[in-house]
Amino acid sequence: MLQLLLSIPAAAVAIFLASFAFSSVAERERRAAFVSAILLAIFLAIWLWAESQWRVGHWTPLLVTSLASLCAALVFFVPFPSRRALQTVPGNGSSVTRVDERDVIFSRADLVEGSPEYEEYYQRRPEFKDVDRSLQSVSEMGVPEQEMYSPLVSPLTSSASRILKRNIELVDGPVSEKRTKLGAETATRLVKLAASRLGAEAVGIAPLAPECVYSHVGRGPEPHGSQIHLSYPWVVCFAVPMDYDVVRGAPSPWNTIETHSCYAQVSRIGVVLAAWLRALGYAARAHVPGSNYQVMLPPLAALSGLGEMGRIGVMVSRSFGPRVRLGAVTTELALVPDAPTRSGIEEFCATCLKCAVNCPAGAIPTSEPQETRGVVKWTISAERCYKYWCKLGNDCGICLRVCPFSKPDTLVHDVIRHSVKASPLGRRVAIAADDLFYGKRPVPMLLPSLKEI
Ligand code: SF4
Ligand code: SF4
Repeated sequence: MLQLLLSIPAAAVAIFLASFAFSSVAERERRAAFVSAILLAIFLAIWLWAESQWRVGHWTPLLVTSLASLCAALVFFVPFPSRRALQTVPGNGSSVTRVDERDVIFSRADLVEGSPEYEEYYQRRPEFKDVDRSLQSVSEMGVPEQEMYSPLVSPLTSSASRILKRNIELVDGPVSEKRTKLGAETATRLVKLAASRLGAEAVGIAPLAPECVYSHVGRGPEPHGSQIHLSYPWVVCFAVPMDYDVVRGAPSPWNTIETHSCYAQVSRIGVVLAAWLRALGYAARAHVPGSNYQVMLPPLAALSGLGEMGRIGVMVSRSFGPRVRLGAVTTELALVPDAPTRSGIEEFCATCLKCAVNCPAGAIPTSEPQETRGVVKWTISAERCYKYWCKLGNDCGICLRVCPFSKPDTLVHDVIRHSVKASPLGRRVAIAADDLFYGKRPVPMLLPSLKEI
């Protein structure tokens, strides 16, 4: 009986290693499958030897194996209070300067030399003129001069991007005069259900932090430079994950097409949700891909509990990592907010440098988070990143591919995510294990469908 009890922790470790090996085979992660199989073999050999020693009266090896397995489980999964509390999202009444959307790299890249907007902007911000000139010479992604141009696949990107522009006129509209009365709790349940049924994988609600509203329009549909007055009290944020199988082939034109495909889904969810709320008698505006954002989505998504701001400069979700595309609807309909979550992502990013080490443009900082406009966060060099996109002809996505949180949302990865959330040691081990199982510089995978073309 005692022998059986002592074998339980060791059996749990063996089952986890075996599950990890099987799931790595299913995910076609050859290196992870090989390493986990070796570790499983070593562990089984030690355990079986300890069992054999027990049978001849030497109880120490089995006791040590069992205690070591039990300690591992306790150290990795017993919750420790989080020691880090970065202020990576604005709000909480702090006086943060609002961002002018005209300063965002995509708005600057759209400026046409000689236009009144161009002249006005560089008179005010001459420091960007030189760096922006090279970006403005590239009209769009997927043109023949770019490194990864494919005459067959690249035109799909520009076609998809043109479709997104069509939804812009639907982001706002007239509100029904007949208002349907809804309590905040019922409305919250309904809104979340509707967003999920429309295709969102995660939905969260937050008070609309004024600091997350852009001060001036940088990209349509309103005139360039017009002031933004967005006084809705609530924001509904939602996320659509990118397919992991496509992301792990990044950079490739297929990754950009996946980005646009998710954008199309986000756009559809946003405009339908906003139109529905207006039909119920509540003002609502969608903020979806296609150059019509009036709010900064990543910090709002973090405030609404969808994830945490990571080193990578965007929101990292617990289940999908940074490989999510975000949308939002701001509304006057009273809702019940979600609380920001703490899944150990900020703490993980503080030690993990994988995205920064693998970024070919050197755009992701390796330093500690810095204070920017009153919030403490990691800020990437948007100029370097966008310049690299222009060189390639697609949206790169290497940082999304290598981030450990991007792994599929399966049981084994979920066990590891739980350990990352619960324990500082779990985070340390997960960072080292990610390098061991997947490599410090994981190579992109060729998509299975592409092998057949
Ligand atoms: S998309 Fe590519 S260039 Fe941009 S930050 Fe990520 S890895 Fe670097
Ligand atoms: S790769 Fe590492 S440091 Fe970068 S966002 Fe992901 S977890 Fe954070």
